[in-house]
Amino acid sequence: MKGLVDKPNYIIELLEGGVTLEDVIDGHICEQALVEKSAFAVGNLGALMRQHTCWQSIVPQLQPYFPVKCNSSPAVIEVLASLGLGFVCASKAEVSLVLEHGVPPESIILSSVFKQLAHIKHAAKNNIQHLVCENEAELSKIARLHPNAKLLLQLTTEAHAAETSMAFGFSLKSCRHLLEKAKELGVQVVGATFHIPSSCQDLQQAYTHALSDARCVFDMGVDLGFNMNILDIGGGFTGSEFQLKQVESALRPLLDAYFPQLSGVQVLAQPGSFYVASAFTLAVNVIGKKVVTHHWDALSHDEKNDGTEFLYYMNEGVYGPFSRKLLGNTIASPSVHKHALCTDEAVYPSSLWGPSLDQLDQVVERCLLPELGVGDWLLFSNMGACGLEEFDCLSTSSQLPVYYTISTSDWYEMQEAGVALDSAMKNFSITKW
Ligand SMILES: *Cc1c(COP(=O)(O)O)cnc(C)c1O
Repeated sequence: MKGLVDKPNYIIELLEGGVTLEDVIDGHICEQALVEKSAFAVGNLGALMRQHTCWQSIVPQLQPYFPVKCNSSPAVIEVLASLGLGFVCASKAEVSLVLEHGVPPESIILSSVFKQLAHIKHAAKNNIQHLVCENEAELSKIARLHPNAKLLLQLTTEAHAAETSMAFGFSLKSCRHLLEKAKELGVQVVGATFHIPSSCQDLQQAYTHALSDARCVFDMGVDLGFNMNILDIGGGFTGSEFQLKQVESALRPLLDAYFPQLSGVQVLAQPGSFYVASAFTLAVNVIGKKVVTHHWDALSHDEKNDGTEFLYYMNEGVYGPFSRKLLGNTIASPSVHKHALCTDEAVYPSSLWGPSLDQLDQVVERCLLPELGVGDWLLFSNMGACGLEEFDCLSTSSQLPVYYTISTSDWYEMQEAGVALDSAMKNFSITKW
């Protein structure tokens, strides 16, 4: 196995002839077994590119802007930047990170709802003009500190409000007032943005409302003399090709009706999970185990094994890379490393906990697993969209290393994917792993 060395902060391992991701995980588990059995993550950079290909083939009319909050690990930013994505940043630190990767300021949107003054000043200084805004107080701050800003007004959507209980964005009712205020303060408004989360049950209805609202905002803006030319339809793409096609079929007729291509409006989206979720696998170690035995009559019918249930404690939990759990997401059951389940093997109801012994630190409430021993490894796939800044610490902290890999074929495909990619990858050199 050989590695591709980039900047000193991360190494990409090139998987040659027949070496698989599983082999890489095995290799690191062996290494870890000799030391402290720390958890680690493996990132498959080829997956990022494959998601990009999928995106371009299904929704070529939507320009992808990656929300840095989903995964800010340096290799991810590097690859996505070289694929030509734009970036949505919520803070000064995120802006600095993407600027360091050579992303042009025109391809960056500063998105946070309430912006610290320093972050607005930083954006102004670095010539980042696209800022999201949703209320009058923010408008005044921006007018004062960044008079050349080009604003995207954040519209609420019912679907987003239902998910978060904190409904950000302004309603259509307050729209004219906000636009007039912008006019008065001399700040440019160039478009609108909204977000429909992937938990939304009725995509058709949600996009219908959101796009007709956005059309109203555009019309009012044009009325007041603004040059309205950017529509941002937010995130909410799970990563599956099937779901992307569903969104596409809900969207296309609406875009044709409200924002036809001839209108010259540039349409953006913010696919976060879509790009990164499947690219990362997390390996954690079982550090403790408890057995609970239930009485027969307390068991439901399908649980009539011998009434045994296991609680396993792992070396990472919700205060680390499983923080998504605290935000109400479900963490899918892991697979057991080096364990091909035989059909007649006993499995037991099990719950998986982090190391803190805190009530909240339950990662998986219930899953069926063969009996595990302390020291066994569990592999959680689809861990690329951490939701918080965990991957930031992941990539720099010594306890939780991230190993990046790419298969040779993906590597060549990446190189063929275009000039931009070539230039970003040229500083990698091949060394022995
Ligand atoms: C988190 C977030 C996204 C990314 O969402 P995904 O569903 O992961 O694509 C996009 N837009 C906004 C406003 C967000 O808060």
